[in-house]
Amino acid sequence: MYRYFDGRCVFPRGWLYDQLKIQAEGQFGNLDRIWPDVRDSAWIGGSCEGWERVPYWLDGFIPLAFLLRDEGLLSRAQKYIDAIVSRQQEDGWLCPCSREERAQYDIWSAFLIGKVLAMYCELTGDMRVEDALRRAMKNLFDLLSAGEIHLESWGRYRWFEALIPLLYLYEKKNEAWIPALAQLLEALGTDYPSLRESWKTPINRWTFDTHVVNIAMMLKYPALLSALLGRREEGTAEMLWQLLTEYNGTAVGTLTGDECLAGISNVQGTELCSVVELMYSFEWLFAVTGDSVWLDRLEKAAFNALPATLSDDMWTHQYDQQVNQIACVTFPGKSFFRTNPSDAGLFGLEPCFGCCTANGGQGWPKLALSLYAHSGDDDIFCALALPSQLRAVLHGVPVTVTCDSEYPFRLSARYTIRCEQPCEFSLSLRVPGWAEGAVVDGQEYRGVSSVALRRIWQGETAVNITYLASPRKVSRPHGLFAVEYGPLVFALNLPADWVMQEYERKGVERRFPYCDYELYPRTKDAWQRGFSGSDMTVVEHRGDGVPFSSVSPRITLRTHTAQVAWDYADGYETVAAKAPAGREALDAPEETELFPYGCAKLRMTEMPQLLPPRI
Ligand SMILES: [Zn+2]
Repeated sequence: MYRYFDGRCVFPRGWLYDQLKIQAEGQFGNLDRIWPDVRDSAWIGGSCEGWERVPYWLDGFIPLAFLLRDEGLLSRAQKYIDAIVSRQQEDGWLCPCSREERAQYDIWSAFLIGKVLAMYCELTGDMRVEDALRRAMKNLFDLLSAGEIHLESWGRYRWFEALIPLLYLYEKKNEAWIPALAQLLEALGTDYPSLRESWKTPINRWTFDTHVVNIAMMLKYPALLSALLGRREEGTAEMLWQLLTEYNGTAVGTLTGDECLAGISNVQGTELCSVVELMYSFEWLFAVTGDSVWLDRLEKAAFNALPATLSDDMWTHQYDQQVNQIACVTFPGKSFFRTNPSDAGLFGLEPCFGCCTANGGQGWPKLALSLYAHSGDDDIFCALALPSQLRAVLHGVPVTVTCDSEYPFRLSARYTIRCEQPCEFSLSLRVPGWAEGAVVDGQEYRGVSSVALRRIWQGETAVNITYLASPRKVSRPHGLFAVEYGPLVFALNLPADWVMQEYERKGVERRFPYCDYELYPRTKDAWQRGFSGSDMTVVEHRGDGVPFSSVSPRITLRTHTAQVAWDYADGYETVAAKAPAGREALDAPEETELFPYGCAKLRMTEMPQLLPPRI
């Protein structure tokens, strides 16, 4: 089992630092100022939502504040933690509801705030909060055992989330009630493997069983049970993931779900919450299984689906993103999505529903917390080659590992290891699954998932790694193809006009910069294209201040495309049909610059390989 070096040791640099700064200055960094459900939450004594929204928000805001070492953000996070802990009731109950309301209160948020407090304790070592957390979780055990509260609705489907604070507490103090509560929750909670038949056929009806966020969260439960109860993870998560992707997988490593599983489709939506929850599950699954295939999956979601569904300034997000997305507008009639309303594809403050507004902020900070791991006390595993610095102590010797890279926009990294005194340990560099191999300091490695360098490190040592890869076309359903290079997926970019909407609904104001936007393609038919050659040239660019810039990407692929006959989805003039009517080029091939999927807000990702035009 691996353990990530905690956030106090990790210092984001380069584009990752810039991305976190953008987040701090955007929507997720300002909800306590602009959004009633966080600003005036019942969790801190206000009159607004007192359930999942504040814990969701803190789950991203706290690590963000710590990673940026930003005093202003830290004190705003502290204010919430203090207010929540100070409202704890005599018997340990933490959630904002009266004693009489407890039996009806959905205790999913009790698990969620437990997860947040455990992370806060890990980052601060604050014993006062640790004590509050222990009392809160013990109180849940007592009340659940006595039948005074119940595991219903979201709590029943998200029971495993409680295992995260329980794991934290158990490692601090071995108390019998902790594994007992884990077993009780497992017994009362949803048994996901038994639901898997229902994931094979999408239905136009909302159900807990096929809820894509439940499912994205659920993937980590075998890992958590294994870590807490010492059970072996026998591949349950892998089996469930294979089945889910077979029936609902997308070209960017996510599941269709808007917000229930929506089948194999390049035009059905994927909810933002499910993207960040998948990432978090993958982070756990790698840590517990040590299988770096989970890191490959993490990168695919993180570098494609996550930035794609956020605006450059991170002031707006989508509820649902589509892989082939030719417009983001409110459907005039019936929603195209199976289980979400007509506005779920807009970029905005809370299009469709506010869960993603609160929850979307965990994606980037938790990725940054997953860069470096260790399996014992004398190894460092460099999991993700993102620009950063690790400051750790091994065998009593301060060690820094600095990663200078533009990864994933460039497929190489330079690690600089500095030790104050000679120190023996292993430094392992991951080789991603998409790479044909890697060259480390001039030596080529193939068929490996990591390169371990064990030596006595002293002074300053540089290690260079280059991943071997070429752009590739991967086959997708309906005879279509997507293009990948490294962990990035590439798409035909459709330049968009952003049409602002400012308004107020139910006391929630949308005002620039936290307004809504509809996106219209500048050229109406520019999306009806296919690949008309096999050439693909990598072009590197300087980019601008936004890592996944929608106007100035740091990398593009040059290829040829041509026009093809492709209809709209039946009854919708802003959604492409799943597949084109023809496969024949209608005009001469044209040189086309493909953007990283995460940069292209309107895009065609899955396209056919065209036959030359008939003469
Ligand atoms: Zn959501």
